[in-house]
This record gives sequence, C-alpha cells and structure tokens, in this order.
Amino acid sequence: MSDAILDAPVLVLNKSFYPIHVTTVRRAFAMLFKGVAKAVGPDYTLFSIDSWLELRVAADEIGIRTVNRVIKVPQVILLVSYDRIPKREVRFSRYNIFLRDNNTCQYCGRKLPRKELTIDHVIPRSRGGKTVWENVVTACVECNSRKGNRTPEEAGMKLIRKPYKPSYLNFLKNFTKNNIREEWKQFLNFIDAAYWNVELENDNK
Ligand SMILES: [Zn+2]
Repeated sequence: MSDAILDAPVLVLNKSFYPIHVTTVRRAFAMLFKGVAKAVGPDYTLFSIDSWLELRVAADEIGIRTVNRVIKVPQVILLVSYDRIPKREVRFSRYNIFLRDNNTCQYCGRKLPRKELTIDHVIPRSRGGKTVWENVVTACVECNSRKGNRTPEEAGMKLIRKPYKPSYLNFLKNFTKNNIREEWKQFLNFIDAAYWNVELENDNK
C-alpha cells in the first residue's frame, strides 16, 4: 500500500456534520473499522465500514489496493456519537509543524515531500532553545545541516517567516486553502461561507 495515500488528509465531522478535525486516511480507516466513525458520501449519505467496502472505485479515483480488491478512499468521515466541538488547539506534532509551514523549508523556500523535511530548532536546544511552536520550523536536510548548532543570524540564514503557534480555525482554513478538496467544501462552508469563498477564489487566481 502506498504511504502517500494512507497519509492523505481526511476531514472529520462531529455527529452534527460540523468539521472539527483533519486526520489521515490511515486513522480514518481505524475509526471506521472500530465503528466510531462512518464515511460520508457526497450527498451526506453515511456508510458503515461494511457498506463502504462494497463501493466501487471509479476509474479516475485513487483506491487502496489490497490482495483481492481496491478500496475507495474516504474524504470525509463523521464521528457517530460525538456531538461536541472540541477545544480548538492544534496538536504540537511533527506533522502539524510541516502543515503549518506548508511542507516548505523555512530557510530556502523549497517545498518538499514530508520524508525529506526535518524540524529545526531556531535557537538550538543546546543553547536553551525550547521545543515549542515559536522555536521550531520546517527545514530541508541541507539547510538544517548547514545551520548546525547556530542561530540563523550566526549562520547567515534568514527565516522566511517567524514561527508561530497556529490557531485551530486558521489552521484548518489555511490547510484547506492549500489542499482544496471538492468533497470538503460543503462542510467547511458550513462554518463561515463568506470567508471560505474569498479564500478559495483568491487561491484560484
Ligand atoms: Zn532548505
């Protein structure tokens, strides 16, 4: 199975169809198999894992190949018994740091696959730099090793953008702006139609 497919993003809705999270295809399937989530079809139809596995994968769709079949990849899932809107904090993780920085090295500006990216401590750990949103950036291997155990100033390297702690809603919006998924729009519009439309139009210029 391809890791790229399993790591692709899936929008997570609470039971009232309110978008609350973005997860990976891998985790979405884990939740579907456990029965805590259902896959959401384009017309709001809900599919249990059994009915989902019976769906045919269209010729232009990417599916997950297993030994004896091709499984359709869900774009949106719904948590069947969760109706709250969780406290919106972006989890501090490698994945989310890359996401905040749009998979782009914050020194040379190259956008790379995640496996070719590293996390750089702007103020090195050995110099008291903390592992927090405001002190970590996405860096390519070359820039990270070139910078070494120095601050950007000492290394003569300039940060494209000062690292910051993302707010959840902005995070979801920025994320979606860069990864427009047709299937997500109807649910995201639900949050704030005006904002989304502006963002999406700007992005299509
Ligand atoms: Zn770089």
